[in-house]
Amino acid sequence: MKFPLARTHRLHELRPSHCGQRVTLMGWVNRVRDLGKLVFIDLRDRWGLTQLAFTTDVLVTPLAEVLAVRDEWVLAVQGEVAARPQEMLNHKLPTGEIEVQVTQWQVLSTAEVLPFPIAEGANITASDSTRSTYRYLDLRRSPVKDSILQRVKLVRAIRNALEAHDFLDIETPLLYKSTPEGAREFIVPSRIQPQHFYALPQSPQLFKQLLMVAGFDRYYQIVKCFRDEDLRADRQPEFTQVDCELSFVDQEQVLTIIEQVVQLALQEFNPDYEPRPFARMTYAEAMDNYGSDKPDMRYGLKLQQVDTEIFAGCGFQVLEDVVPADGEAIYAIKATNCGDKFSRRDFEQLQEVVRTAGGAGLLWIKVQQTLDDASAWQSPLKKYLDAARVQNLTKLLSLQLGDVVFLSVGERQRTRLALGALRVHLAERLQLCDDQQQCWLWVTDFPLFVRDREGKLGAAHHPFTRPHADDVQYFGSAPDKIRACAHDLVLNGVEIGGGSLRIHEPELQRQVFAALQLSAQEIDRKFGFLLRALRYGTPPHGGIAIGLDRLAMLLSGNSSIRDVIAFPKTHQGTCLMTAAPTTLPAEVLRDYHIKVD
Ligand code: ASP
Repeated sequence: MKFPLARTHRLHELRPSHCGQRVTLMGWVNRVRDLGKLVFIDLRDRWGLTQLAFTTDVLVTPLAEVLAVRDEWVLAVQGEVAARPQEMLNHKLPTGEIEVQVTQWQVLSTAEVLPFPIAEGANITASDSTRSTYRYLDLRRSPVKDSILQRVKLVRAIRNALEAHDFLDIETPLLYKSTPEGAREFIVPSRIQPQHFYALPQSPQLFKQLLMVAGFDRYYQIVKCFRDEDLRADRQPEFTQVDCELSFVDQEQVLTIIEQVVQLALQEFNPDYEPRPFARMTYAEAMDNYGSDKPDMRYGLKLQQVDTEIFAGCGFQVLEDVVPADGEAIYAIKATNCGDKFSRRDFEQLQEVVRTAGGAGLLWIKVQQTLDDASAWQSPLKKYLDAARVQNLTKLLSLQLGDVVFLSVGERQRTRLALGALRVHLAERLQLCDDQQQCWLWVTDFPLFVRDREGKLGAAHHPFTRPHADDVQYFGSAPDKIRACAHDLVLNGVEIGGGSLRIHEPELQRQVFAALQLSAQEIDRKFGFLLRALRYGTPPHGGIAIGLDRLAMLLSGNSSIRDVIAFPKTHQGTCLMTAAPTTLPAEVLRDYHIKVD
């Protein structure tokens, strides 16, 4: 037997109906089992496993040679498909009713001793860094491979859905001009233009807008984006967006069309998916009810603002001293019928959760024994709650015996965010999240600007986001009040995508740049090309970018985006397999006009 020869079947294909056929198979050795006069090898490829039987009866080579074969060698074999004896049927395997009785075989490639086992079910004790160094081996393992295959399936479904809605797949440059969009950029020195730099795009934002100016109307691209940021579990320096833009649309149309595309893709990805309209909520509602701009809607635990009057004169200073006029507030979360699930120590831990999230602190009430008398309740507050306050609280929060109330007090936004974090923590602890459930949500009407610590105005999304027509009047007087025509897409508490209507009038765009304190010179230097383009007939347009890695992670049931990226980087932004980034020899740097000490 001599390679090259044609493979006749993939390793998931053979069935009893093939019995008697001569076949040629190729793949990796998944496992070798020596039964004396008989050696079994499970051969594996991308599609599946087939059992090979080597016996001296039909084999042309000595069995001893077969026994020298090791895991992950690559073999080509020829033999005849035969039914397995009744007691050896494996109903878990699609090919479990047959085996191939090998007559000839050839080693196509051997493998060194493996850093960790590959075969299904093997116990992996190798560290993450070993697995990353040998990523190509880790990718052979079923759970890892399956996650990548799920991503592939998702990408195909998204592409099909976008194509079905007339979106055009158009590429945009990766060597780009430095145009800050919020995050720090990766820069690329130019060799030909000394001391000039490209930037890798944080997203194709301006190119997609220019494609709208060019008249392409519906654009999409499944595209790499780059952000040189501190990395967290769900961040990578390079990541993939499903980037979309549409012309002649208002925000309602953007949401409707993108929702249709996402629903279509989800149905192709998972035929059991039952499309339901995505929920809608404004940013103000999300913050007030859930303490988050990306609330997980699989469970309740809503925040409720507590009228400060209830605690006026109660004697407990923290609650008495709240001054709504200074932007302070009291918020509560009620956890229904779970008093027995929290001990005093648990409450102390929860206090830490709230403090870590920026809250001032946490108060709690375990409602027990009676609804009328706080002296029977468990709470640091109980002696401050007279009958009237008990009644008011019970009414406001519809309290029942067994309920637990969490209260936090302080600056409104900080308090809401802290209780929002507590809400997520409680839901996990009380196991309220159903992994099978998908709660999709649009959040709209974000603020156009945010302020940094020094109070300087910055773009909350990016500076090309359109302000609400009703709020343009506030540009000079109260920019914090201006709402953006922006939208985020949220799945189970994770931000999956974000976008907006864009500014298509050069004057309005200049006004936003000016509000961001860019000088006229800076505006021209950084964004002159955009302002020029907007003067040549620009359709109203808008769009969205969906984070493919995160979506693939959630839909494949993984907890890190690294699981759905074939070659991810570490938390330090390095690639352990190729050892990137690397230093470069001085003469190479010289070509790029870079001096190093
Ligand atoms: N370019 C934006 C981003 O990457 C998305 C958009 O506005 O379409 O966040």
